[in-house]
Order: sequence, then C-alpha cells, then structure tokens
Amino acid sequence: MHSLRRLVRLAGRLGDARRPRAEPDRDLHFGDLHHSWDALQADRRRLALAHDCGFTHCLPVLREEIRLRIEALHRSVAALRVPPRTPAESPGASDWVAELRALEAEFGELEIDDRRCVLRVVTEPIALKRVELGPFALELVWSRFGETRGAHCFDILALEPNPAGGRDRVTHPHVQDGTLCAGDAAAPIERALADGRLGDAFALVRSVLETYNPKSAYVGLDEWHGTPCSDCGDRTDREESYYCTGCHSDLCEDCSSCCRSCEETRCDGCLEPCAGCSDPTCSRCLDEVGGGKSACRECRADCRDCSELFLRKALSGLGLCDDCLAAEEADESDLHPEPEPESEPEVQSELELEPQSELRPLTLAPLLSEDLLCPAIPTRPG
Ligand SMILES: [Zn+2]
Ligand SMILES: [Zn+2]
Ligand SMILES: [Zn+2]
Ligand SMILES: [Zn+2]
Ligand SMILES: [Zn+2]
Repeated sequence: MHSLRRLVRLAGRLGDARRPRAEPDRDLHFGDLHHSWDALQADRRRLALAHDCGFTHCLPVLREEIRLRIEALHRSVAALRVPPRTPAESPGASDWVAELRALEAEFGELEIDDRRCVLRVVTEPIALKRVELGPFALELVWSRFGETRGAHCFDILALEPNPAGGRDRVTHPHVQDGTLCAGDAAAPIERALADGRLGDAFALVRSVLETYNPKSAYVGLDEWHGTPCSDCGDRTDREESYYCTGCHSDLCEDCSSCCRSCEETRCDGCLEPCAGCSDPTCSRCLDEVGGGKSACRECRADCRDCSELFLRKALSGLGLCDDCLAAEEADESDLHPEPEPESEPEVQSELELEPQSELRPLTLAPLLSEDLLCPAIPTRPG
C-alpha cells in the first residue's frame, strides 16, 4: 500500500497530465473559415474580370463556385456558433487519492512507475471459452492523456502469454500488439479517463478482457489453437492453412490439393479426374464432353462442324466428331458420280496431284470446257 504522501504527489502529476487542452475542433473550423473567405474574395475578383472582358461563357461556373464558397462559410460559422464544451471540473488532489486508493483495493496492488508515467495493475488469470490466456498487466500511461483516445492510453501485457496459433502479437481475442480493441467500451473508457475516474477506467478495460465478442476479435477463440482441417480434423495455424474455394472449407497441407488446370486450391472432394488426361480438375475447369464425361480445357475441343464439345482425341484429324465425319463422307459419295468419259485426262491427272483435292477435279470438271481452259492451268507438254 502506497503512503498518502506518495499518492498526493502522484495526484499532482495526474492532474497536470489531465489539464484541459486547446480545442482542436474549433481550430479546424477557424482554419476552414479563413480559407473559404480568401477563396470567396478570389472568386469575386475573377467574376468581375470575366464581366469586364465579356467572357460570358464562364460566368455561370464562377457564380456556382461563389455559391459553394458561401455555403462552406455558413457551415464553418454554424460549427463555431456551438458553444465550446466546458471542460469537466478537474478532480482535486483528494479525488485523485481516493481513486488511487480504490484502485489499490480493487486490484490488490497498484504499481507506480514515475519514470515511464505508468500506473499498473494485474488481473487474475483470464480464461475465455476454456482457452487459458493467463493474467494481464494493465498499464495506464498517463503521459498519453489527451494525446490519444482513451483505451489507447492503456498497454495490455500478457504475463503468461498464450497467443493465437501463428499470431504471436495477438495475446487475447481483443488485444494485438499490446493495444486493446475496446469495441463498445471505448467511449465509456474515454469518458472515465476524461473525468479522472481511474477506477472505472481500469474496471472497464478489465471487463473487456473478461468478455469475448467474436465479431470484433482479432482471432476467434474457435481458431485460437489453429484452424481445424475439414478433412482430417487436424489443427493448423491460420496462416499455414489452405482454403478450398469450391466448398469454402479450411484444409491442412496434407489434405489440400489443387486443380491441374487453374492451380486453385481444392479439397479432394472438389476435384474430379479429367476424362482425357485423368488429372484432378475443378468443376470450373471441367466441361461435359458427352457420354456423361467431363474434360479439362486441354483435353476437349469443339467439333468443327456441329460445334459440340468432345474429347479432343475423339475428333477426327480434321476436327470432326464421328457423326459429322460420317455425314461428310456420305455427302462426298453423293457428289461422286462416275467419272465422265469426255473429261480431259491430262488436266485431270495434273489436278489430282494437289493434296486433299479428291473433290476438286469433279467440281472443276464442268468448268473445263475448251474455252475455259485458261493458260493458268498448266498442261503437260505433249
Ligand atoms: Zn487435413
Ligand atoms: Zn472442397
Ligand atoms: Zn480449375
Ligand atoms: Zn485433361
Ligand atoms: Zn460434330
């Protein structure tokens, strides 16, 4: 227990740290007011100049600008007309001493570090949802009064840290890097500090540590010791776990796989072998190729004629499916009448030399009358 003299001296220092400061908000509004006024004068000069020079096309723009400047002036004036908040009555030395005594009584021990400007208490060991987080030291750094928001005046130190798996800086679902994410308690903590109610401020901070709010947690308690793999149930650190984009489940390294086409991580259940290459492939990269089979991009192709998807290896060399190939062959034989006896054998034999030209001589045959046999078609020298 600290002596009264010690506490009175401390009360003086706390009172000094808590002095009402200048009002940054009002300074800002005065700055805006000056800026808007100067800009308004400049706009009016430009308007007069435009008038004098007969630049009538820019008059509407300038008038609109002036209207907006006047509105901004209005807003600044309105903000400044609100009377400044009268700072809460500064606690006297006896109030501070009472607060410090109450703090000592509440937490059992109050440490005072004058050099670091720190008031420090230690909580009981804290466990949330059966996760042991150990005791925490709550350090109020009074030199930060007024410089930072209420909860940020506190450093929260885990004395027997049990940090989240893979996240050493998170020692509590609501503490990262020693800073408390106070959530709904932020405003009450700020008010308590502003009023000099130290006991309330510390108690509020402790209650944040003793309450778990999954919505504002840096790391949820369910995942404190890692993320369970949806396949085998093993836990892995969040940063080392894998995620199946097909069924949105977390996976350990051993159970994660990937689509050979797009390389996205998938679980085994979200991959199917391609009917062509048998590689595990995701549903996005697979497409039906008929016969209840699916194939990856590499292994499937459109038939050149009917545009339906088939396994690439099931298409003919010319890119036709079986049906289209058969149809083509049938057409071909329809077009294949008996060779006409009067067709010129010499020309015919020349044309037959061309590749894939089985049909050409026939389709050309009617054109090969005497007068159409142009010199472009070479004839073998007789
Ligand atoms: Zn697994
Ligand atoms: Zn999956
Ligand atoms: Zn894929
Ligand atoms: Zn394939
Ligand atoms: Zn086809």
